[in-house]
Amino acid sequence: MVLPADYHMHTPLCRHAVGEPDEYARHALEIGLTEIGFSDHSPMRQDDFDEWRMNFDKLQEYVANVRQTQKNFPQLQIRMALEVDYFPGGEDWVRELAGLYPWDYFIGSVHYVSDDWAIDDPKKISEWKNRDSFEVWKIYFERLTMAAESGLFEIIGHADLPKKFGHRPGPGCAPLYAKFLEAAGAAGCAIELNTAGLRKDCTEIYPSREILKMAFEKNVPITFGSDAHAPGEVGMNFADAIELARDAGYGKCCRFKNRRRQIVAF
Ligand SMILES: [Zn+2]
Ligand SMILES: [Zn+2]
Repeated sequence: MVLPADYHMHTPLCRHAVGEPDEYARHALEIGLTEIGFSDHSPMRQDDFDEWRMNFDKLQEYVANVRQTQKNFPQLQIRMALEVDYFPGGEDWVRELAGLYPWDYFIGSVHYVSDDWAIDDPKKISEWKNRDSFEVWKIYFERLTMAAESGLFEIIGHADLPKKFGHRPGPGCAPLYAKFLEAAGAAGCAIELNTAGLRKDCTEIYPSREILKMAFEKNVPITFGSDAHAPGEVGMNFADAIELARDAGYGKCCRFKNRRRQIVAF
């Protein structure tokens, strides 16, 4: 069996990951991966936006680091990408970032449901107590839908992230993610099976089996990602992710190079 590419991993430039890109690549080879992609947290227009992404002046260094690792590991396909936060009205910034370097793909992620609350930030977990859980999920899926429709991203990251600390989507959320998945299917925008959820309180891959089954019905393509923030996390729990994907009906996933998609079996 050919393992799918791990398209979601970070580097220390985002200020909350450890290990150099070469170490991520070495671990990928050790566990039998043939392709990986670095997708570190992109800069925002303002460097002081939050403390868990790279500053704009580090972007050049990021690109140089990934290119160096590509040279150091010619036996591994290594893609150069970014995980970019989606905000309604922030589309121009994503376009500017896209024009700066020859990226292979962009992962569009919604972490923020307002300008100052990232729902997955452990330092702001108490904010959940002040909010109606359904309202959070509603804003989240609305933003995800807009991100899929924007055409700015090849992949939507961790498509049910608000469950991270155990806040599950209620039955009323089904129409919300159905709408998102329809938009993703129509736009040809992939979603990822992100295994980091298994390492969080929710102990479940993003997205859930229910969402993934609906995604298959709506022809939404997939990728795989560990969301590694340390070299040892590369490819973590990929056997579980493959099993989940197959159970939902999938036998093929996407590869990206120069922002062009190729569909391959896994
Ligand atoms: Zn993320
Ligand atoms: Zn990530």
